[in-house]
Amino acid sequence: MLQKKISLISTQSNISYPFERIEEFADNGESLEVRIDGIENAKIKEGSHIWERFVDFMPFRDIDPNISLGEGNTPLLFANQKLRDFCGLDDLYLKNETQNPTWSFKDRGSLTCIAMAKEMGEKVVATISTGNMGHSMAAYGAKAGLKVIVFVPHFIPDEKIAAISVHGAHIIKVLATDYSSMKRHVLGLANKLGLRIVTGNGPIRTEGYKLEAFELYEQSKGKLPDYIAIPTSACGHIRGVFKGFVELKQAGFINKLPKMIVVQAKNNSPIVSAIKQGKQHVIPFSNFHTIAEAITTGNPPGGDEIIDKAYKHGWLAEDVSEEEILISQKMLAESGFLVEPATATSLYAIKKLRANAKIKENESVVIMLTGSGLKDAGVLRSHPSNTQELELEKVESSLLNLVTHVTL
Ligand SMILES: *Cc1c(COP(=O)(O)O)cnc(C)c1O
Repeated sequence: MLQKKISLISTQSNISYPFERIEEFADNGESLEVRIDGIENAKIKEGSHIWERFVDFMPFRDIDPNISLGEGNTPLLFANQKLRDFCGLDDLYLKNETQNPTWSFKDRGSLTCIAMAKEMGEKVVATISTGNMGHSMAAYGAKAGLKVIVFVPHFIPDEKIAAISVHGAHIIKVLATDYSSMKRHVLGLANKLGLRIVTGNGPIRTEGYKLEAFELYEQSKGKLPDYIAIPTSACGHIRGVFKGFVELKQAGFINKLPKMIVVQAKNNSPIVSAIKQGKQHVIPFSNFHTIAEAITTGNPPGGDEIIDKAYKHGWLAEDVSEEEILISQKMLAESGFLVEPATATSLYAIKKLRANAKIKENESVVIMLTGSGLKDAGVLRSHPSNTQELELEKVESSLLNLVTHVTL
């Protein structure tokens, strides 16, 4: 596919826009997605990077390997007995996206956003973020030599701001009580300023998230899971992963689509609440607090499309309490995975869906470990500490006691 005909299509009413469009959403507010004509003929090629092998599925002629920071290629691991018992499920896997360069899956979307900026000849990119996307864009912009402006809400942890800042990005911290309205306001400036402002649900980011579906396809050697659990906020991740599978099906590589599990914190569950209540539209949340601060979009633009897809494709939806998030974070850490609270939501959601028999005993589930626990060290301190403080003379006797009472 040398000459690709690429456009942006609004996801619910199929209005077509040029690929170059600066605004991330359609004029009617729907999210946009990339359409590549002739995707049915896409082939999988040779190449060391995932985007090289799946270049036919990507909206670029190629991606300059120099903009990469080594994202992707993350392991798909079989869950240990402890996690399988916790969920009541034999066939449980984890795809560890915390191994990306800035410790979250956001790097896949930043790769494609920077590729887009390069292709369009832009020198500045901007983003609105609760932290992880800002950090990721800052790192990728630094590598590619682009100026990055990051808008953040005032409530994000200082570690996240420091990480964005050290890469050289310009940070604008906005004192806004409501993240969603801040996002809408800032996005409204894009066209006026001729500035591409990328958010978590933009059409180019989701193209990067497709790469997770392609990796899962390769890693599961044709036996795709029944379900993929995804903690959801702006909705770009779940949309991108699913789009990857849809395109694999269009191109004849698979014949069945895995179902998504939409997971949110109970304190902010605009999508999950809507699905549970059988509603067609997002139920906006505001003035809430959750420790899962990477999933705090209370009124996600384009969220209705996810609700629509959930009904159409038989997806599941579950929310989890603050306490359940902490239990899951601890459970994952005790199995070797240090994840942030937003990521930890999925484990407990699966446990509940399994307990309600929404997920059957013989079905397989992949959990996307979206972000690293080190991104929010403050929350880690809320777990009890196992530290023992001793005078030097008492070390030997205490140690003896410890090693003779090892119980596994
Ligand atoms: C961004 C993010 C999410 C939510 O993804 P969306 O694309 O905004 O729905 C979940 N977990 C982590 C760690 C994130 O950084």
